[in-house]
Amino acid sequence: MDHSQDSKLAALESFLKDYPQIAFITSSSPNYTSLRAVFSLDSTATPLAIVRPQSASDVALLVKYAKSRGIKFVIRTGGHNISGLSIVEGALTIDLRDIRSVDIDKQSSTAKIGGGILEGELAEQLAKEGLATPTGNVGSIGHVGWATYGGYGLFRRNFGLGVDQIVGAKLVDAKGEVVDADEKLLKGIRGAGGIFGVIVELTIKVYPLKTILAGSLFYASRDLIATFKSFNVAYQELSVEGLPPQLTLNQTVVNTPHGRTFGVHFAWSSEDETTGRHWLKKIEALGHVVMNMVSVTTIPAWIQGTAKFTPTGFYGEGRTHNIRQMTDEVIDIIARNFEKMPADPGSMFAIQDMRGAALKFHSGSAFGARDPHFLLEILGGAVMKQNKEQAVNWSTSLCQDLQHIDPRNLLPSTYISLDRPSESPGQDALSKIFGSNDQEVLKLKEEYDPEDIFDLAVPKLKHYL
Ligand SMILES: Cc1cc2nc3c(=O)[nH]c(=O)nc-3n(C[C@H](O)[C@H](O)[C@H](O)COP(=O)(O)OP(=O)(O)OC[C@H]3O[C@@H](n4cnc5c(N)ncnc54)[C@H](O)[C@@H]3O)c2cc1C
Repeated sequence: MDHSQDSKLAALESFLKDYPQIAFITSSSPNYTSLRAVFSLDSTATPLAIVRPQSASDVALLVKYAKSRGIKFVIRTGGHNISGLSIVEGALTIDLRDIRSVDIDKQSSTAKIGGGILEGELAEQLAKEGLATPTGNVGSIGHVGWATYGGYGLFRRNFGLGVDQIVGAKLVDAKGEVVDADEKLLKGIRGAGGIFGVIVELTIKVYPLKTILAGSLFYASRDLIATFKSFNVAYQELSVEGLPPQLTLNQTVVNTPHGRTFGVHFAWSSEDETTGRHWLKKIEALGHVVMNMVSVTTIPAWIQGTAKFTPTGFYGEGRTHNIRQMTDEVIDIIARNFEKMPADPGSMFAIQDMRGAALKFHSGSAFGARDPHFLLEILGGAVMKQNKEQAVNWSTSLCQDLQHIDPRNLLPSTYISLDRPSESPGQDALSKIFGSNDQEVLKLKEEYDPEDIFDLAVPKLKHYL
């Protein structure tokens, strides 16, 4: 650490002596390694320090202090940014994980949630009251980070995306004040997340839902390519019939101890088990099921169950493509590339279809991808470092091949939460994230954070200008 960093650190430590409730962690603290750990194993940056505020006013204090001393800072909650962007070399990490209250208002079917709450805990708190909200299916993801950039979850066809649940937000703004977002700013937060301030509280919609019929189905995958192709052909035929909104499916290809396997994560977000089981049968019939883990369950239990298929971290990168239809051309390209996919558990492929309620909420959010589409998630990752190059080569090759599909089928949008930062930034890359809302996001940024205090927030707007 250079001299100026040393003196910044000493001054910060001395300042925080008056605020003992804010935990202060440096690289020499005993719990540093566990508190610093993020999903991206490529992240090697050493933050100036990690601080853990307990309240919105603690966050305000920290933002004011950092601003006055010219200290760069970045927000961290679940640490699941796929590129490890919540830890930045020499910047102060403001870790919000202690701000995790849940305050339910049954009258308005909403809950005020702390800005640092993780998905697993949120689901548990809501379940105690027989309630649910759309959620990411990895319990250690931060809810605000998941929801404010989009939030594709397994209730999306029924209730919409994470971003569509947000009805209010409290944030620490660029002046270091705790403020309630007005409607204009809320539109920006719904899609552009923390670029306007530190979100210390969200008000979100909640739904009465005690149990769901959910879990994973795995299909015979000795001939993975044939399984993937025949499932998708049959699935297209079924879709024509019209899937009910309660049913959401994510297709996935994962490396299990038994080899590379094709499966679907099935979620029936209703307590009407009979109809759910009727649809489960139809999905089972789309291939030869070798393992059926679907059961009536609670949302917290289901989130814990899906953790088995997701590593806690990887070396590598995420990529996404949005396509309109799973045409034979697309199915062929994806299937062909499975031959290059490494056997490492960090390499994963998934398809999330964006239909139903997830298409409804256009006008009130800056989220850009509202055309019906299939989100192709290509996670070129490796749990073992030596497999990283092969994993990245696989994701690169698949992405290159997808660039050449019928252009009418390829949407000009990306999903920032699962994609690496664009290598060729500029207006085009920005409009890929926010669609036709890109200029509005830039205007809001100019209005609410003219000095770019939150310059390290995702996405780094400067990168695109
Ligand atoms: C294994 C894995 C699976 C995933 N699955 C899905 C999925 O199914 N669907 C989906 O939509 N996404 C998914 N994601 C993406 C994930 O939702 C996003 O990366 C999300 O932003 C992570 O939030 P976090 O708080 O955990 O991240 P962090 O790394 O802690 O934060 C990333 C950035 O988000 C911003 N941020 C977070 N919280 C706040 C806040 N309270 N105030 C202001 N800014 C904030 C900050 O800029 C911060 O630097 C997945 C990611 C991983 C690694």
